[in-house]
Amino acid sequence: MVIFLTAGDSKNSDSVDLHFECIMCGRCCKVENLVITVTGTDIVRIARVLDFGPDEILKALDFYLLKGDRATPEGMRDFPLVTTEKGPAYMALKKMEDGSCIFLKDNKCMIHPVRPAVCASFPFSFQRKSGELVWGLNAMKDICPGIGLGNAVKKSYLEAVGTEVLENLSIYTDFVKDWNSINKRHTVRLFIKSILESPVFYA
Ligand code: SF4
Ligand code: SF4
Repeated sequence: MVIFLTAGDSKNSDSVDLHFECIMCGRCCKVENLVITVTGTDIVRIARVLDFGPDEILKALDFYLLKGDRATPEGMRDFPLVTTEKGPAYMALKKMEDGSCIFLKDNKCMIHPVRPAVCASFPFSFQRKSGELVWGLNAMKDICPGIGLGNAVKKSYLEAVGTEVLENLSIYTDFVKDWNSINKRHTVRLFIKSILESPVFYA
């Protein structure tokens, strides 16, 4: 569920009407139906730190096919569909059989400094509506026990994180549009190789 609220909820305060503190419980890394979408920027950061090439990166990814008249999963409507050899798909981190992320070991994120933006900004999600940054929640307290704890969330934090998330998504969306329109074989391996070779993700 995504609830969108505007950053101007509490007009006279530098914070919004929500308290949050990540208690590093790792729950968001194990929710079966939570898809951990990744952008080109995420892929490049992970590949650099782990010294991964296209084949190693591919082993850490899943491509979620959108077939027939299946509706776009909630929370992924703004995420671009990549043309692959099996059809249009969303790129995301691989999940293990129990629903946990491939990078979760002993309840810790193995790539914490370069974890995808969707993880670093959890449980918040962002959109731009009529030029204004709006934020919402990707999960409620039953999934994220950090909601309601700690200090009220600063508007400056939401602004900074939301701006970065949406900029990276915009660069990735343009890249995917170009990829989908080129007249050559669309394989996921070639897609990852193109991401790793593209200067747009190294800014
Ligand atoms: S579920 Fe919430 S509190 Fe727990 S690790 Fe994820 S963001 Fe932090
Ligand atoms: S990349 Fe790290 S923070 Fe993100 S879901 Fe996987 S283990 Fe959790």
